Amino acid sequence: MRRNLIYRGFRALAAIALTPAVFAFMAATTVARAADYSGALFDAHLHYNEEAWNGRSGPHPIADVLARMQRNGVKAIVANSRPNEGTRALAEAREETGGAGVTVVPFVRLYRNRADYDNWFRDESIYQMVQAELARGTAAGPYRGLGEFHLYDSANANGPVAKKLMALAEEKNLVVLAHVDDLAIDLLMANTPSKGRKARLIWAHTGIGGASPVRVNELLAKYPLLMGELSYRPGLTCPNDKAGEKLCPDWRALLLKYPTRFMIGSDTWVNQRWQQYDELMQGYRRWLGELPPDIAHNIAWGNGASLFGLKQPEP
Ligand SMILES: [Zn+2]
Repeated sequence: MRRNLIYRGFRALAAIALTPAVFAFMAATTVARAADYSGALFDAHLHYNEEAWNGRSGPHPIADVLARMQRNGVKAIVANSRPNEGTRALAEAREETGGAGVTVVPFVRLYRNRADYDNWFRDESIYQMVQAELARGTAAGPYRGLGEFHLYDSANANGPVAKKLMALAEEKNLVVLAHVDDLAIDLLMANTPSKGRKARLIWAHTGIGGASPVRVNELLAKYPLLMGELSYRPGLTCPNDKAGEKLCPDWRALLLKYPTRFMIGSDTWVNQRWQQYDELMQGYRRWLGELPPDIAHNIAWGNGASLFGLKQPEP
């Protein structure tokens, strides 16, 4: 789509007589455009699901997904998958991930299959599966978190297994990746021993339903360790005057106010997202380039690296 827009842009320009005034305008806009962010990326929301490959067959074997990460400067990933075999396969590919310069941060997913999406919060066998998976660990080290999980009805945050898992996460210092609405953030936090003060929760999409920036601000202020992951976030970018995208003003203000609380992610929940991986990462690099360099680096890499204690990657 972007190529088409650029092509149309050139055609439109070609139709304009190139007077000195037009040249001056073009030079000014070139100078004014911020450079894209060019440093390391931490993909904080990545799935390696069964249909992508799962260690046997599929269109995106490990060499393929690692090549996509490497050519986009992705140096670390939060890896989770339905079922957990995909994450374990990535974790076991030590030589390949090392060669691509990608650190795998494994999470236990709560889904063995699609039916678990709607039932995990009350299914005791999911709790047992999580316990067994945590005990087993991965070739890339212990699991560091739980999720991504979904709550399509926020009241299910009070399901018996959801409550136990939130308590377990805090007790074991695991990070939780949750695709939920703003009401469920409050409910999940209330189910932790610290009532949310010590809960390390990544809010997938920072509210895919479009919780207002005022409400996001309120939750970030209330829960000191709450992080926001920005894939699919409605209202994050707005059209600019050159048929492209820029950060919307209220979101730019939030990112500047909370420079240590946001992260980017691919959310490769279907194979189409693997096919779009280059564009997704290029899209992040464009708006990150609008921010002061230290804040761009935090959101791109530093906040995820701090959360999981990773070192700065080799340049
Ligand atoms: Zn996801």
